[in-house]
Amino acid sequence: MSDCIFCKIVDGKIPAQKVYEDEDILAFNDINPARPVHVLVIPKRHITSLATVSDDDTAVLGKILAKANEIAVAQGSPDGFRVIINTGRVGQQEVPHLHAHIVGGPEPVGPMLKRI
Ligand code: AMP
Ligand code: ZN
Repeated sequence: MSDCIFCKIVDGKIPAQKVYEDEDILAFNDINPARPVHVLVIPKRHITSLATVSDDDTAVLGKILAKANEIAVAQGSPDGFRVIINTGRVGQQEVPHLHAHIVGGPEPVGPMLKRI
């Protein structure tokens, strides 16, 4: 997708602080971190969101989760982390290229969501 900001990062057209890369996925630091460790893990192939995935995406989705601990530990979150995948309008997804936020650091990240 030529107008997708995360596809441009994959293609090297805009810079990012990459922390992990293989043939299927790329991980880079969030430009506006919410916690000391805040990494985005994306499929290199454009997938808009969890609302648009198909069975063909199962392997890459599994890889994103399977690599999360390795990435978190390497970035300074050795005792756990949180994975967040905002999806669509209700999930308040801002960038329409599927991404998992890995947030953590030395201290607990805080409550999950405010109860309403
Ligand atoms: P979401 O609301 O789940 O779509 O989150 C999008 C995230 O992408 C936000 O946390 C932004 O700070 C982050 N972001 C946007 N542009 C960039 C960029 N060029 N490099 C790194 N992170 C970015
Ligand atoms: Zn994209």
